[in-house]
Formats: sequence, structure tokens, C-alpha cells
Amino acid sequence: MRKIKWIAIHCTAGYGDVDSIKRYWKNVLGWKEVGYHFFIYRNGTVVQLADISKVTNGVKGFNSNSVHISYQGGVELNNVNKAKDTRTPEQKQAILQTIKTIYDQLKFNQDVSDIRIQGHRDFSPDKNGNGVVDPWERIKECPSFDAIPEYAWIKGPESLRQKGII
Ligand SMILES: [Zn+2]
Repeated sequence: MRKIKWIAIHCTAGYGDVDSIKRYWKNVLGWKEVGYHFFIYRNGTVVQLADISKVTNGVKGFNSNSVHISYQGGVELNNVNKAKDTRTPEQKQAILQTIKTIYDQLKFNQDVSDIRIQGHRDFSPDKNGNGVVDPWERIKECPSFDAIPEYAWIKGPESLRQKGII
């Protein structure tokens, strides 16, 4: 098992299903690997696309130590060029459940409490060196919400268990 430092949260920036996004990665982008480990439909259904021991293609330069979760959406329904937090309550819950799944699979191999949970855009280079990734430095808006403060309370499986995620 590889050492995981980040759980990266993404949006699909569209409303296609698993098959259509897989076709896009393969045929349009020419990727050999899938882009995420987990895909979460608007109804909360989680589809695992790759074993977490496998490297996927979520954030260039960080993939060898990351697990990637993506929710379907993240843009306006009628304008996919406009970023928007479109997570349904079911998706919010499924993201937490998926984080717990990841912890459960890693906990015998490493200390999971130091894994950082952040959005794709939080990996963007901090160009002016002020220690934070400012909005204008973002390579993209993905996942269309601020994942770092949203998940700051998660310090490991116990935090999730206390909220009823088991
Ligand atoms: Zn992304």
C-alpha cells in the first residue's frame, strides 16, 4: 500500500454518468488511468472506479500520494462553465462515508489522522508566496466549495464515528 497524504475532493464539472466520464478520460484526454477513485452520483450512490492502492489522475503532481473523490455536478445545470456548489444532502453524506471507507482501508498501514482533506483547487500553486492559495491563483474552481474549512473537524475515523458515520 502506498502512503496517502491527501484526500482530494473534486466535482465532475458536468452531469454525465460514470460511463461518459470514463469515455472522456480515455478518448478525449487519452488517459490510461481513471481520474478519480470514487464517483458520487447526485442521489448519493458511490461508484468506486479504482482500488485506493492504485494511482489515479486527479491532481497533476500529487497523484502518487492522493486518493480522489468526485461528486457529480459542481457547475450550474444550464451553464457548465459556471462553477456552483450543487452538492445534494445525499452527496454530502456520501462524501463523509467515502472518507470513512478510505480511512478503514488505510488504518492498518499508516496513521490516518495526518491525512489532509482538501479540494482540487487547494493544490494550486501559491504564486505570490503568501501561504494561501488565493482565488486568482486557482488553476480551476473544482470542487466549487471550500473543502478545507468544511472538513477541518475531521481528524480521523473517530471524528466521523462521533457524527454517526460508521
Ligand atoms: Zn478536480
